[in-house]
Amino acid sequence: MSSQHEIPSYLTPHGTSPWNVYLEQIDRVTPHLGSLARWVETLKRPKRILIVDVPIERDDGKIAHFEGYRVQHNTSRGPGKGGVRFHQDVTLSEVMALSAWMTVKNAAVNVPYGGAKGGIRVDPKTLSQGELQRMTRRYTSEINIIIGPNKDIPAPDVNTNEQIMAWMMDTYSMNQGSTASGVVTGKPISLGGSLGRHEATGRGVFVVGCEAAAKRGMDIKGARIVVQGFGNVGGVAARLFAEAGARVVAVQDHVTTVVREGGLDIVALQSHVAANGSVAGFSGAEEVRDRAQFWGIDCDILVPAALEQQITEANAHDIRAKIILEGANGPTTPAADDILHEKGILVVPDVIANAGGVTVSYFEWVQDFSSFFWTEDEINLRLTRIMREAFGAVWQLSEDKKVSLRTAAFIVGCTRVLQAREMRGLYP
Ligand code: NAD
Repeated sequence: MSSQHEIPSYLTPHGTSPWNVYLEQIDRVTPHLGSLARWVETLKRPKRILIVDVPIERDDGKIAHFEGYRVQHNTSRGPGKGGVRFHQDVTLSEVMALSAWMTVKNAAVNVPYGGAKGGIRVDPKTLSQGELQRMTRRYTSEINIIIGPNKDIPAPDVNTNEQIMAWMMDTYSMNQGSTASGVVTGKPISLGGSLGRHEATGRGVFVVGCEAAAKRGMDIKGARIVVQGFGNVGGVAARLFAEAGARVVAVQDHVTTVVREGGLDIVALQSHVAANGSVAGFSGAEEVRDRAQFWGIDCDILVPAALEQQITEANAHDIRAKIILEGANGPTTPAADDILHEKGILVVPDVIANAGGVTVSYFEWVQDFSSFFWTEDEINLRLTRIMREAFGAVWQLSEDKKVSLRTAAFIVGCTRVLQAREMRGLYP
C-alpha cells in the first residue's frame, strides 16, 4: 500500500505552511543520509500531538476559550524540548514545524533532547496580567499529562518570558505535589533559572555571526547590521554586535522600522521598547513606514529574529546583505534559500544560529538536577565553545559535501536522530 494513503490529512503538505517548508528541507537532506534514509519517514511524522481547549474567566465575568497545542516531534535522543509561543497566528502546522526544527537543532548542537514545541492562539496584549496568568496555568494543567523534567521541558518563545515560566513551573508542581524546577527552563534565577539564559539565544547568534564573518573575511568592527524583531533574540544580538563595534543601522518590529545611518543607540532603544512596547516613536532614529523597504537596506549582516517565513521569493532578490543570521526559527523559505544561494549570500541556518537558547536551557536543566549552580562566566564560556564547535563542524561538512550550511546542519542533526532511532529499534 502506498504510504501516502496512510498519512493523516494534517500531516500532508499544503501551500506554503511552515510544516511544508520543513518537509521540503527534509526532502533536500534525504539524499545525503545514506542507509539511514530508510528511517526518514519518522522525521515527517510528529510522535505526539496534543490539542487543548483553554477556557478562562475574563475580568469582566465573560468566558473566553483559546486553542492550545503541545507537539512532541521526536524523543529518540531524549525528552522533548522546545518553547511555548503565545501569538494570534499560532496554528497546528506552525507548532509542528517549530517542534521538528527543535529536533534537528538539539541534535545539531548535540544536546541530549528530542524536539517539542507548544503554543496558544492568542494575542497576549489583549489580556490583563490576571487573565494571562489564568490562561497560562490552565494551559499547563491541560498539557500536564505529557510534560515533565524527564518527558518534555517547555521554555520561553515569542511573547512568553520568565514570569510565564514561573507560573508554568508552579502549576505543574502543584499538580505533582512537590516542587519540580526542572519542568521548564528560562525560569527566574530565584526559582532555579540559570545565569545567562535570558541572553543566551542572542549571544549564540552573535558568536556564530562572528565565526561566519571571520570565514568571509569580514570585520565585525564597523560592520552594518540590520535586525528584524527586537525582542529577546533580536534585542540581545543587536546589543552584542553594537558592543563589538558594529553599527546597527535598522531595526524592524511588528509596528514599524527605525533607521539611523550612524548606528542606533541599542541600549536606549531597548529602554524605549520596555516603556512603549515597540520601537515606534524612538527619538534617536527616523521611521520608515513602508515595511517592504526594510529588506533592501544595504548591510553586511541581516538578522531575522521575529517570525517564520519572512524571507520569501517576494523579497529575497532585494536583500543586499553578505550574511544572513537566522535568529528566528524558519524565517527563510526553500525558494528564497535558492535565490540567496545564487546571489552568493551566506545563510547561517536557524538550527545552528539560534541554538544558544536551548544550549543554556540544557545547562539550566542540568543545574536544577544537581542543585549546583554555575557562574555566568562558566556558562558563557561553555556556550561559546559549543556554538563555535557546532558552527565549525557544519561549515566543514558544507565545504566537504559542497552543500549549503542549512543542508549540512540538517545532515548532522538528522543523522544523529536517525542513528538513535536505528539503535533503539522499533517497539514492540
Ligand atoms: P519576543 O517575543 O521576545 O520578540 C519578538 C519580536 O518580533 C518583537 O520585537 C516583535 O515586535 C517582533 N515581531 C513580531 N511580529 C513581527 C513582524 N510581523 N515583523 C517584524 N517584527 C515582528 O520573541 P523572541 O523570543 O525574541 O523570538 C523571536 C524568534 O526567535 C522566534 O522565531 C523564536 O522562535 C526564535 N527563538 C527564540 C528563542 C528564545 O530563547 N527566546 C530561542 C530560539 C529561537
